[in-house]
Amino acid sequence: MDTARLQTYRTMLVDLQATLESELEQSRAEAAPVALDGTMGRISRGDAMQAQQVALDVRRRREQRLLRIGTALRRIEEGSYGQCGRCQSAIGGERLDAFPDVVLCVRCAATPRR
Ligand SMILES: [Zn+2]
Repeated sequence: MDTARLQTYRTMLVDLQATLESELEQSRAEAAPVALDGTMGRISRGDAMQAQQVALDVRRRREQRLLRIGTALRRIEEGSYGQCGRCQSAIGGERLDAFPDVVLCVRCAATPRR
């Protein structure tokens, strides 16, 4: 992959990383443990716990994506970016444009890990 393209992906990844980090920051309060006192106003404790569960799932997915972005940025430095992590073939440009943090090619992503 040429340097200009790598630079483009690096910029996309860094932007994505910043967005996810600020979203994580904002969602910290939502994912906080549900208070045990009865000061929650109109929503019930059950609703609050459900909302917290959803917030935690969202956080977990964002954290996983941040890890993948970190890996992708490291692979740019190492010169292995754009290469499938399993079969080593090149990941399609359109796929990288849509998801710059993918580590598997379309074929490997569709094949369950054995
Ligand atoms: Zn592959």
